[in-house]
Amino acid sequence: MTTNKKSVSRDADEIILAKEMIMLGARLQVVESETALSRERLAKLYRELQGCAAPKGMLPFSVDWYMTWMPNIHSSMFYSIYRFLARETRLEGVRLTVQAYRLYRNQVACQTQGNGNPTLSFTRAWMLVRFFESKMLQLSACTQCDGEFVAHAHAIRHNYVCAICRPPPRAGKKRRPLTPKSPSSSTPASFPTSTAPPSPAATSLTGTGLVAADEASGDTAPAQDPGEPNPYIS
Ligand SMILES: [Zn+2]
Repeated sequence: MTTNKKSVSRDADEIILAKEMIMLGARLQVVESETALSRERLAKLYRELQGCAAPKGMLPFSVDWYMTWMPNIHSSMFYSIYRFLARETRLEGVRLTVQAYRLYRNQVACQTQGNGNPTLSFTRAWMLVRFFESKMLQLSACTQCDGEFVAHAHAIRHNYVCAICRPPPRAGKKRRPLTPKSPSSSTPASFPTSTAPPSPAATSLTGTGLVAADEASGDTAPAQDPGEPNPYIS
């Protein structure tokens, strides 16, 4: 007797998961690599939910994007939530990423009174987790605020100062920063702290051989430029 060739309930679960990811803005390649659903079905689902064809092209593969000023702050916040959920819940794999992203998005909505778009897209968040898993990124603790921030793996942690404590000169000229200027006075609850233990290896995402092409980035200012004075702290 052979086992079920295809479980209907598993299929339903995957459709629900795919729907969640698409609604969060996931690219089709991401959904495809996380479910066993065919590309055809996913493309149909995408069109049904988003009212347009899924965008084509490569997934963003730039680690450097996470080092730019605003993306670094958002990525660090997302990853802090991700680690918290990995530690405190039984979520794992892409479901952990989905839930962490949902909370991150809510946090952004709260802090911008619903007027701000999340700097970090779901696809970028998903890639971020993969970069951490493949040890291309690490967390570095800021020597001024003790927060932990996304940094290149093997980057020198000595005297590290984060993108909030030392923003680039043009920081905030286009739009208000997500976090308060003085992190010590009102640090958001979900903001990374150095006391948080490292998250367990929570996911088992399969490689898809996705190659690079960067998404348009809203802000390319470097996260840390030791030579620049901090306009917010004098
Ligand atoms: Zn700092």
